Amino acid sequence: MSATGMTRLLLVEDDERIRKALLDALRASGFDVDVSVSMRDAQQALLRDYDLILLDLGLPDGDGLDLCRDLRNRGRSVPVIILTARDTPDHRVRGLDVGADDYVVKPFHVPELLARVRSVLRRAGRSASEGEARYRDLRADPVSRRARRADEPLKLKPREFDLLLFFLRFPDRTWTRDQLLDRVWGPTYEGDARTVDLHVRRLRSKIEQDPGDPSYIETVWGVGYRMGESE
Ligand code: CA
Repeated sequence: MSATGMTRLLLVEDDERIRKALLDALRASGFDVDVSVSMRDAQQALLRDYDLILLDLGLPDGDGLDLCRDLRNRGRSVPVIILTARDTPDHRVRGLDVGADDYVVKPFHVPELLARVRSVLRRAGRSASEGEARYRDLRADPVSRRARRADEPLKLKPREFDLLLFFLRFPDRTWTRDQLLDRVWGPTYEGDARTVDLHVRRLRSKIEQDPGDPSYIETVWGVGYRMGESE
């Protein structure tokens, strides 16, 4: 687990469309995700520790199987789920033989992949940081994607939910608009500070008693926003 207590995943995938869809889904589930787009990139990233690796096989500069084999040869037990279009039984056997924990064939259904991630983490004894996030009387459950304040359900759009969940996971921490864009929308998202301001405004209109005098999401002048302590 990372310093933030979140489960940390490395997604190795060169296809931008798949990468973006997965990144959004994984982050929305409360995972801390780093991305690599090539073997070289992944080897560099793997100098750090991860709780699980999602590994595409057909990479521009090599074969993910070699990366997986190499990890095992170096005695690293980090769980690996292979994501690939190679779907013959032979390919599956080869993938599992080099030490992958699971094998998912593209195109896959994102909820099924998330279930496999949870299952592999459970088997590996690494907890998925998927529990309900809470702060004061706000609650957000990343599995059901329901949020409430005290006993009152909150009707949030998907991105508003993601933003609330993120703030709840890091109470009392101040984030710049760029950091929020990167962490909540993802590094490939083309947006700017106004995107963040707009969503914060909408989220406040739904969670604050008085959106004009917010008590949950504070504006930190000249910096950004924070899920704050003030009543
Ligand atoms: Ca690929």
